[in-house]
Amino acid sequence: MVLNDNRTSNYSRSPEKPRLLRDFLKASGLYSHFNEIGGWAPFNREDFLLAHTAEYVDNFFAGIPHDCVSNGLKWSAQFADSVRYTNASLYYAIKSSLEDPCTVAFSPTSGFHHARPYCGSGFCTFSGQVIASLKLYRDKRAVGAYIDLDGHFGNSIEDAREFAGGDLDLAVPPGFNINPEGVHARYISDLRDRLTMLEEELTAGGIDYVVFCHGADSHEWDQLGSQCSTEEWLECSKMVYSMIRRVESHLRRPIPLTLALFGGYRDDDYDSVLNLHAGDLAICLNIICGLKISFNPIVLKPGKKS
Ligand SMILES: [Zn+2]
Repeated sequence: MVLNDNRTSNYSRSPEKPRLLRDFLKASGLYSHFNEIGGWAPFNREDFLLAHTAEYVDNFFAGIPHDCVSNGLKWSAQFADSVRYTNASLYYAIKSSLEDPCTVAFSPTSGFHHARPYCGSGFCTFSGQVIASLKLYRDKRAVGAYIDLDGHFGNSIEDAREFAGGDLDLAVPPGFNINPEGVHARYISDLRDRLTMLEEELTAGGIDYVVFCHGADSHEWDQLGSQCSTEEWLECSKMVYSMIRRVESHLRRPIPLTLALFGGYRDDDYDSVLNLHAGDLAICLNIICGLKISFNPIVLKPGKKS
């Protein structure tokens, strides 16, 4: 899942984030709460064709410009291989959450939500969310919702609706690719309204699974973000997990929940990005799993390198 020479190739560190975050969780003492699942297969050409044209898929894997660099990342055979795994990781995580809803699934991945049927965009290569949800709808009739708190609008689901045919509207109903608007109090207020709508639909049984992607670039000190202070960013996590817990208490059963990472670009202090992600995971462990972990993320002001 990880691009080995990413540091010398790309501005975005997301292609190496799965490994960086795992190392960070180990150093922070949080890693013992995670079980790594292996043995799942990377995606093949047919999987990518669910959400993309054959021309784009074939050109990307053959390393043919401009398609192979439309994501804004340097192409290499190893990077092309890694996206087969990141996209499959998200799918298998959601599938696992449906099969074992008592366990929160976590795909430590990024690089999906700006991809379009005909090209990549904004550090995103393929529409992992679209592929995962279409497969799960067609195989299991499972209906999903995405809470996308990356700092940037996740266009891949909306852009793929026409290309994917009517199934995507059934797999991820319109309105449930949740991307709040505004900054600070308005962002929180908009998230609250959208979560209320999701809570009603989950309670009514209209949504089967939730995928929460808390991108660290919705933090105001991220180079590419503006929305939330540290306190507000963590409050968003608490709002999401508390809503899930309320539904679980009401329905008296666990809601299939999957987490993913998405953006985060602090080039002055990447540890701030990892601290935010770890802070979100600790809140999940406390609210959803009933633990009492004390973890205070350290997010430095820009320019104050640790
Ligand atoms: Zn972003």
